[in-house]
Amino acid sequence: MTALDATHDPVLRSWVESANDPASDFPIQNLPFARMRRAGSGEPWRFGVAIGDQVLDLRLAREQGGWGRVATAWLAPLAEGDLAAFMALGPGARRGLRAVLSAALREDSERRAALASCLVPQAAVDYALPCRIADYTDFYTGIHHATAVGKLFRPDNPLLPNYQWVPIGYHGRASSIVIDGTPLRRPLGQLKGPDDAAPRLAATQRLDHELELGFLIGAGNAQGEPIAMVDAEEHWFGTVLLNDWSARDVQAWEYQPLGPFLSKNFATTISPWVVTPEALAPFRVPFERPAGDPQPLPYLDSPANRAQGAIDIVLEVGLQTPRMREAGLPHQRLMQSNFRDSYWTIAQLIAHHTVGGCNLGAGDLLGSGTQSGPGAGQGGSLLELTLGGRQPIALANGETRTFLQDGDSIELRAHCERAGTRRIGFGRCEGHVLAAVKAA
Ligand code: MN
Repeated sequence: MTALDATHDPVLRSWVESANDPASDFPIQNLPFARMRRAGSGEPWRFGVAIGDQVLDLRLAREQGGWGRVATAWLAPLAEGDLAAFMALGPGARRGLRAVLSAALREDSERRAALASCLVPQAAVDYALPCRIADYTDFYTGIHHATAVGKLFRPDNPLLPNYQWVPIGYHGRASSIVIDGTPLRRPLGQLKGPDDAAPRLAATQRLDHELELGFLIGAGNAQGEPIAMVDAEEHWFGTVLLNDWSARDVQAWEYQPLGPFLSKNFATTISPWVVTPEALAPFRVPFERPAGDPQPLPYLDSPANRAQGAIDIVLEVGLQTPRMREAGLPHQRLMQSNFRDSYWTIAQLIAHHTVGGCNLGAGDLLGSGTQSGPGAGQGGSLLELTLGGRQPIALANGETRTFLQDGDSIELRAHCERAGTRRIGFGRCEGHVLAAVKAA
């Protein structure tokens, strides 16, 4: 587990004034990375670090010099937009660069004059995926989601008996992962109502979002050599928001016996800012199982995981309809939940994924599964919030929704807040729905 150090000091302030706004997602205590360039420019992609409402362009910052030999070497792959090469330097480089950037951005830094010219407003940049997503696995760690969805799909048998023992997951599709702001086209698929004699090909009528976190793997393991719990977090490079768009009607017909396929493989959206494990260190909490639930098997257990394997991250979903957009209304919050309610921790996902010998690689992405809270209004998907489409959501402007309509936009957000620490956030993960192509 990452120890707290001077970079976490809650009184630390930056010379970038907007970073000192208590409501900012990106104070000097956060310092997440994104692959970016000036909007509309043909510049090569490079990495930037968020600070307030600005981005410190690491390509420009490296050119300014004055970083010393070691930090200059750390900055080189980031200046070239090559996250895999930075990951290959190991977690020590990530931690070391955090300390260097924190010092350069703090209020009393001598680098202020040199680095001020390396800032770009976040409103004036385009983002790209942080790296080539090599492989993508989606887990199912939200027990409240699993139970609520299980009730809808199997009223007599909501939570299957393996759930409390196995971190359930499936192999997702890496090719269709897109960055925040990318529109998604309503997918076609086989639909079959319970009374239909045969399925038909049509655009999904039950398009949904799923509120998830995504965990980027920074260093892999050799095939046949599992990652133990005690080492697992050293393979975790960073965390993003993840929307696992889902076509519920397609899913209901196709998911047995091998799990979701076309209902999930058309698009997955992630947020641009990769929040590091170091930034999340002040928000670690114990991993606890409800009384009466089985304890994890030994290969999914460690003292560190019990002490602080979980993370307190508030998650939320906002919806904006075309009418709201035309009226200048922001996204309306639909719900909130917390990642500390996850049934499994990040270390457990990594240990379980590899225990049979599977090799993870740099740039692999692990989805958390939908994070719903225990309460009735805390579903991390419309499927849950509308009880399978039976109970429409009433929006503040008088509109209602069961599933997503063309033009609707979904925005995921997250933040961490705890007494005695500085609040940090994840930025946003947005996508909006385009009309389907015509069915053949
Ligand atoms: Mn999912």
